[in-house]
Amino acid sequence: MIEKSEVNLANKTTFKIGGIAKHFFIPESDVELIELIKKLKKENKSWYILSGGSNLLIDDQKQYENVIYMEKMDTTITMTEEGCFYIGASNRIQKIIRKVNKLGYGGFEELFCLPAMFGGIIYMNAGIGGRNNVKFNISDFITKVKVFDIESEKIVLMNKEDCNFEYRKSIFKNGNFIILGAEIKLEKQKIEDSNNRIEKRIEYCKNNQEWGKGCFGSCFSNFSPRILKIVSLFCGNRKGVRMARNNSNWLVNDGTGSYNDAITIINRCCFLHRILHREIEREVIIWK
Ligand SMILES: Cc1cc2nc3c(=O)[nH]c(=O)nc-3n(C[C@H](O)[C@H](O)[C@H](O)COP(=O)(O)OP(=O)(O)OC[C@H]3O[C@@H](n4cnc5c(N)ncnc54)[C@H](O)[C@@H]3O)c2cc1C
Repeated sequence: MIEKSEVNLANKTTFKIGGIAKHFFIPESDVELIELIKKLKKENKSWYILSGGSNLLIDDQKQYENVIYMEKMDTTITMTEEGCFYIGASNRIQKIIRKVNKLGYGGFEELFCLPAMFGGIIYMNAGIGGRNNVKFNISDFITKVKVFDIESEKIVLMNKEDCNFEYRKSIFKNGNFIILGAEIKLEKQKIEDSNNRIEKRIEYCKNNQEWGKGCFGSCFSNFSPRILKIVSLFCGNRKGVRMARNNSNWLVNDGTGSYNDAITIINRCCFLHRILHREIEREVIIWK
């Protein structure tokens, strides 16, 4: 187990905003992770789980007592039988895609541009929304998810049906489980087709996604595009944070932005939806 103190979380998120982790743990196996969780539980302490940090807004005025970084917990990728793989939660999605493509399989190449780890991808049920006829969620490929059940302190292999996957949602959002890895089933795919899908997606992201000095992808998963556009035209800019030029659902940090700037814009969007009686659901996870 690697242990650090006073780690600046801004450097661990793609939005480049965040507070300080007083204790920053990097477990190097699932055994180390589970021992750590049991210890923290016994001491009545809470913790935060951090993977790629690509869907997180972290309060830059706060100190977080215990943060567990999943980067080294489990990086295995194993083909268990033809087309079936076990994938550890710590793997970056790019590594997974390259590996399964090389073995002649594929299916979720469009996730190549996500700066995310597999655990975070399962937690969020990440996917692609339908542009160029490509539409899927990672749950379409999952057969089982291996978790540590925090209450029973047991490792459990959950069937996909028990994971309550919906659009950008899963049972894991209830905070009762830590995702250790998952089994997936893939179809055969020629390496040329896989490479082609990756290249197309990279091209699309280059032309359509604005990074600035930081972003966390889509802010909301359910919203009125018109209302977001209104916010973007009249008050979608606050100091260092603004809505992206070609996508009002995408916040960009120019490098000087703060948590408060981002929260102010998010609150404006929610407020306008509320007074116009329209639904809005936040996708980005906020560490308060
Ligand atoms: C440039 C860019 C493009 C993006 N494009 C897309 C896209 O096309 N489609 C899409 O769906 N999303 C997209 N996203 C959003 C983001 O990449 C996804 O939501 C991704 O699933 C987050 O994974 P992560 O590893 O970064 O998780 P993090 O942001 O680190 O964590 C997200 C949440 O999951 C929890 N968590 C993480 N790992 C575990 C674990 N092992 N066990 C339990 N809880 C865990 C964390 O505690 C946190 O609450 C994009 C983001 C960026 C910055």
